[in-house]
Amino acid sequence: MPERAAAQPSLYSAESADPPALNGGRCRACGYVFFPPQSYGCESCGAPPQHLEPVTLAGRGTLHSFATVHLHQAKGIEAPFTVGVILLDDGPAIRSILTSRTDEGLRAGDRMISTMVPQGRDDQGREVVELRFQKAASDQG
Ligand SMILES: [Zn+2]
Repeated sequence: MPERAAAQPSLYSAESADPPALNGGRCRACGYVFFPPQSYGCESCGAPPQHLEPVTLAGRGTLHSFATVHLHQAKGIEAPFTVGVILLDDGPAIRSILTSRTDEGLRAGDRMISTMVPQGRDDQGREVVELRFQKAASDQG
């Protein structure tokens, strides 16, 4: 039995590598890569869903923009927290909560990597982990 559970299992695996990878999709017709996974059809060339296939996206990218939320607006998270848009090296952009609570020390263009943050336990006693992004150390990313 797994001891960890992903808070959003459709988007990433709790057992994933370091840094954790994300579940995305790719169009076999035109090569367009997207996140999150969807099964409506290709947003780029209009190919039907049977041309889409799941791909694993590396949890690495570049910080595009970010904002700190100072009021308590989200369920289950304490303000302040910082939300960033990261352009993944594999193509798509992802909006993610960052591990740093404020924007201190963050700049657009920073290298970012994904990480798993424990968020308590589920009713089966498994540790629930949520994927977030943090600034990469200079020897990472
Ligand atoms: Zn396509």
